[in-house]
Amino acid sequence: MTPLLVDCGELCQKACCDPKWGQGVYLFPGEEVMFSGKSYWEPIKTISDRKIVDCDGNCKRDERPLFCRLFPLFPYISPENELSLVFYSPMHPICPLIKLNDFKILADDYVEAVKKIGKILLKNEDCLKFMREISREIDACYDEPWMKL
Ligand code: SF4
Ligand code: SF4
Repeated sequence: MTPLLVDCGELCQKACCDPKWGQGVYLFPGEEVMFSGKSYWEPIKTISDRKIVDCDGNCKRDERPLFCRLFPLFPYISPENELSLVFYSPMHPICPLIKLNDFKILADDYVEAVKKIGKILLKNEDCLKFMREISREIDACYDEPWMKL
């Protein structure tokens, strides 16, 4: 499943996978069991109670974390506890799709899949908590001056 019908990595040389932009990828609660015991992904780090896998920008694509599969969308939980889909604003500076902020250019099956996954995840208390936390971080980004660039 990809965000566009064409390979968006050709737009930006796969900027979201470039390790220079971050310290790894968040795992959803419980997802670490999929990665432990696989030397390729270990060590799994814990930062502020969140599990994170390092990546060197060349992962085994069919093993990539859920966060990467959902990206550039995220199943957002509003302060009123409602689910919607939003672009993952913390990566706004590097992702052309997030900058465009236009759902119409996204592949329908990708959007539907992210929506369906969001509905499933929110039934799990730990995942819901994680989604709430990430959603507040997304909210905070909208107040940043660089979001207007
Ligand atoms: S940064 Fe955005 S446009 Fe580039 S590969 Fe990642 S999702 Fe696609
Ligand atoms: S884990 Fe894979 S898909 Fe995710 S950012 Fe790293 S290289 Fe990209």
